[in-house]
Amino acid sequence: MDVDPETPRRIIDHHVNFVPKEGNGWESCPELPTPKEIMEKQDDVAGLPHNPVDRPWDSKEEYLAAQYQVLRREGIEGLRYSVRCYIEQPDMMDNQHTSVYVGVRVRSYLLSRLGPIARIEFSTARSPLQIRWLQSKRLTPGTIVALTTKADNFKSVCKIATIAQRPYTDGLDQTPPLVDLMWADTRAAVFDPDTELVMVESRNGYFESTRHALVGLQHVAQRASPLDKYLTGLHTEEEAPQFVKDNPTMDLSTLVHTIPEGDEDTIEDLTEPLRDHDILGGLPDLGRVTTLDQSQLEALHRILSTELAIVQGPPGTGKTFTSVEALRIMISRRQRYGGPPIIISAQTNHALDQLLTHCLEAGASICRVGARTESEVIRAYTVYEIRLRDGGGRDQRYKQLLATRYALERKIHDMVNDVFGDHLLSPLALLQNNIITQAQFDSLHDDTMETSTRSKELGPFALWLGDDLIHAQIVRDRHPTQEEVDEAAEKLMADWEFDGDMDNIAEDPEDAIRIAGDLVLLNHVWTGKEPGFVRKWERHVVRELKENDDFFGIELHYRGGVYRHLQAKLVQALTPKFTALLAQHRTICNALKAHRWFKDAQLLGRTGVDVVGCTTTGLTKYRGLLAALRPRSLLIEEAAETREANITSALYPSLQQLILVGDHQQLAPRCDIRWLGEEPYNLNVSLFQRMVNLNMPFKMLKEQRRMKPEIRFILTPFYPELLDHPSVEDESRRPSVPGMGGRNCWYFNHNWPEDTNSEQSKYNQQEADMVIKFFAYLVSNGTDPTRITILTFYKGQRKLLLNRLKREGSMRLPGNSFRVHTVDSYQGEENDIVLLSLVRSPAHGNAAGFLDDQRRAVVAISRARRGFYIFGNIDNLLKAHHECLQLWGQIWNGFAQQGRVKRALGLPLICQKHRNEIWVKEVEDWGDNAGGCDQPCHEMRPCGHACTLKCHFTEHERLPCSEPCRKTLECGDGCVRYCSQTCYCPCNTFQGIQITREAEQARLAKAAEEEVEVPLEQQLAKEMPGIGFFQAAANQALSRVPSKSLGDVRLSEAEELPEVSFASTSSPEKWNDFTVNIKENDARLERESRRLAAEAGTATKIRISDTYNSVALVDGRRTKTKGRSTQKLEVSNVTRRTRAKAATKSRGKQSSSSSSIGTSEEDLLCLKEVSREIDLLTGPDEDMAAEKARITTVPKPKRKEKNVEELLIDVFDLEL
Ligand SMILES: [Zn+2]
Ligand SMILES: [Zn+2]
Ligand SMILES: [Zn+2]
Ligand SMILES: [Zn+2]
Ligand SMILES: [Zn+2]
Repeated sequence: MDVDPETPRRIIDHHVNFVPKEGNGWESCPELPTPKEIMEKQDDVAGLPHNPVDRPWDSKEEYLAAQYQVLRREGIEGLRYSVRCYIEQPDMMDNQHTSVYVGVRVRSYLLSRLGPIARIEFSTARSPLQIRWLQSKRLTPGTIVALTTKADNFKSVCKIATIAQRPYTDGLDQTPPLVDLMWADTRAAVFDPDTELVMVESRNGYFESTRHALVGLQHVAQRASPLDKYLTGLHTEEEAPQFVKDNPTMDLSTLVHTIPEGDEDTIEDLTEPLRDHDILGGLPDLGRVTTLDQSQLEALHRILSTELAIVQGPPGTGKTFTSVEALRIMISRRQRYGGPPIIISAQTNHALDQLLTHCLEAGASICRVGARTESEVIRAYTVYEIRLRDGGGRDQRYKQLLATRYALERKIHDMVNDVFGDHLLSPLALLQNNIITQAQFDSLHDDTMETSTRSKELGPFALWLGDDLIHAQIVRDRHPTQEEVDEAAEKLMADWEFDGDMDNIAEDPEDAIRIAGDLVLLNHVWTGKEPGFVRKWERHVVRELKENDDFFGIELHYRGGVYRHLQAKLVQALTPKFTALLAQHRTICNALKAHRWFKDAQLLGRTGVDVVGCTTTGLTKYRGLLAALRPRSLLIEEAAETREANITSALYPSLQQLILVGDHQQLAPRCDIRWLGEEPYNLNVSLFQRMVNLNMPFKMLKEQRRMKPEIRFILTPFYPELLDHPSVEDESRRPSVPGMGGRNCWYFNHNWPEDTNSEQSKYNQQEADMVIKFFAYLVSNGTDPTRITILTFYKGQRKLLLNRLKREGSMRLPGNSFRVHTVDSYQGEENDIVLLSLVRSPAHGNAAGFLDDQRRAVVAISRARRGFYIFGNIDNLLKAHHECLQLWGQIWNGFAQQGRVKRALGLPLICQKHRNEIWVKEVEDWGDNAGGCDQPCHEMRPCGHACTLKCHFTEHERLPCSEPCRKTLECGDGCVRYCSQTCYCPCNTFQGIQITREAEQARLAKAAEEEVEVPLEQQLAKEMPGIGFFQAAANQALSRVPSKSLGDVRLSEAEELPEVSFASTSSPEKWNDFTVNIKENDARLERESRRLAAEAGTATKIRISDTYNSVALVDGRRTKTKGRSTQKLEVSNVTRRTRAKAATKSRGKQSSSSSSIGTSEEDLLCLKEVSREIDLLTGPDEDMAAEKARITTVPKPKRKEKNVEELLIDVFDLEL
């Protein structure tokens, strides 16, 4: 059965020249919003259909209508709202929802291969802040904007356009800035450069992401597909695709991965019987030869043999692996029997590139549609590159079309020249457009008149205008200059750099380079002088023109005005002609695009591509091209995160098989307009989720190969069926976290208050400090920093954490070595150790923000392979509201049941050297921790000095020694520096030796072309990337060097030095600054002391103190005095011990120094019972408001810190 009898050319033409149905229904909506839609009032929105996701639809039509209308609303709602705001308050300033651009004028048209593009200038005077265009998301290509004339202010004029491109150089960097846009309707194109416009942009929503899906849905309504029956949710039977029914033979030999031990068979013996397998008869027994587990095999069978295959892959269960194994078989089938390419798609470019790379490895011939690949390997397989390699060149038809386009562009040029050329107005053009009469025309062409060379060159008007002929100067508003950078703006933009989700920006093969084309300038070169002496001269001018048949009869002082009037009239008269030409230009460009797609489709057919990949946006954007390949199979990765419409609109008529791989218990599709995401519109429910809701059979993968069992245990409430693959139980493959004594997960509870930053994002300072200290501890214990990911729910916290890490970690780790992510951007990723920072902890009341989203939480707790540590305020989450209690109560229980929480004690560390356990409860408790316990090290360093650090795991070779060096140098003096620094003496002899040696070294280096001497820090950084942290520890030690130890040697005046305060060790930024500056300062101080010594003669002692670094230099030698910090640290250690003791006493059971990991009853909370009790108390139907009221009326807990059961007793009158 051939479902789709159409030829590729017809399919493409149908797409490129798509005309919506006639009528007023959703099927007749144009691609871009209409002015009417944008100007609608809120009341008009009421008629939006509901989009239920828990019951089947009666018909495909009804379903598509709802999908379309809700999605379209989402695409335009932001702009509609912004235009409404502007109408209500036309003098509004920019705010978080709306940007207004004034002084907008069309400067030129770019006749590009995409069609005519208007280049406009604009002013950002309405922005309270200066805009950093390079970091700004304003006017992103693909954004829709609404324009009106300044005079009309959206009373009746509303022109819709999309941003085509926003080049920075010679564009946004200009004064005024320029940007390129495409009119939605060429009939609305502005031709008159003097028309002043206002442009409104919404900061919410991005039309480009819905635009192509909308058109796709209209296509889907017009053509039937074998998959239609599933869309309504009525059909839940499994069926095989027609092409598989026709030929169910598949080669399963790629599933053989190992020869079982003791087996005599060769690989051929094992694979041979699998080469011609009837897939509809099920899978053969592969138990011992494949690494796929049973659930993966069942999922693979479903993928190969059903029309709609849904595979749920919980965290770590090898979703992609299973897909790729299935693709291998599908690819080999295609290579054997032929057929169209398989289409694969993923939400992000990153995931898509990974999938395509796997296909390449499987020996497939691939093609990537859309150019936004980040992978160098995949870049070679874009359509563009394949086209280049093919070198087929342009065919006859293409050349014809191109010639037509150029001819049209010449016509547009000529027309524009009539008005804006560098000669004067053509009297003939004025006559032809009925602006002047025949008599007036004749009067300009009087042969008897004496002609000057000027009028010959410029035309008859030159003579007539005489001195009133002037160069046109465009009067522009003053724009703020680009240099006026507002500090606040700088701060704001600094954030945007991290916003980095620019993924959904228009994907076009040539996007990377600027759109090229013929530029047609719209500005007058010449004009007439204004009759400045008469007010309202315009009226007089019109009368003069009317009353005079002879141009030379017009009074001299009005002639300039008359000329201006004629110019305006001609622009007006030519506008319809101009817009008609633009429409023709767009048509010819579409024909070119259709032809290009056709050639591409032919090319992909000819080169025998097995797999075509694109993002889920690309599925609809390149719908014509992809549909023309007449694919039968479409596989979508992370399908539960993909919007339903993106998949539905990609159901090309030829498709017989749709494979959805994802996990509806992890992240859902995003929706820009919150209320449209929720009931009853449900835009953030995926097709995957809806099919599961409607009982469509699906296969769940069950064996996880990511997490150590104790981490997987925390996931049990969400995935009760999840099993551990033997590999994760193997200590050699999943070693325990060093320095944690076998506790590979822990919940650290606190009640430190949160804060809100200027972008309304949350952060928690103390929590961040705690996380960073712990990070440093793990690194000091031998964990590579790149093996640790810090996850957080808030952008504000992410930024804070990154700043802290960069400071604490010093300059020695490149910024991108730190893995700090928001949960939303980390789906599908994993790392050895994950530290999760929850942030939320309001000073008053309780709030969970989006921590109450179970799908996000599930992603957050399932990323770690070997170690998972949560930092957050559990009391707040349990009290926030009922669902949140349910969710976080279960997570908490996962830790508590394994004895992985101790509210009273905090976070347990176990040093690797002595196996001592210490507890950290406050940030200050970290004190001068060097990565071990509290015992001093006292060991001998290789240099001969005793170590002054506390217990540490890192070898001494990697820790800079902080003792004074005192080595006798060539000059006979003792070295004045610290042991870990390069030896130095300020005396002239040493300097001399130094200079000679340096010269010698330089000579040798040059001769041997050897590497220059690598400074100590660099050497260390090379050996061990995390050395920055050890450096910090060493600096702390440096501060404790008593002044005497140096004073004894050389400095008789040391005791007289005034007491100087040290930078406190509790302030890591100062230490970092100190580390960075130490060399620079030394050099500066030495220079200074040498200069003073030279001035004063050698007899005088020179003392210079550097108050910032609390260092004094006497006779060029660095010295310090004992600082307060040491004492402070000692004090904090005492309090920590006291506190721990007190805590032990109060419980009277456990010793704080015990390293046993028992289950503490006080920390354990059995949620099963709790939730049952809750149900009894509140009843299933009791609404949220009552629930909340209940929580807020709870009496304030007394000073005493409450534990979890007490808290739950308070909240739910619960007796445990
Ligand atoms: Zn120790
Ligand atoms: Zn030591
Ligand atoms: Zn030393
Ligand atoms: Zn030295
Ligand atoms: Zn010396």
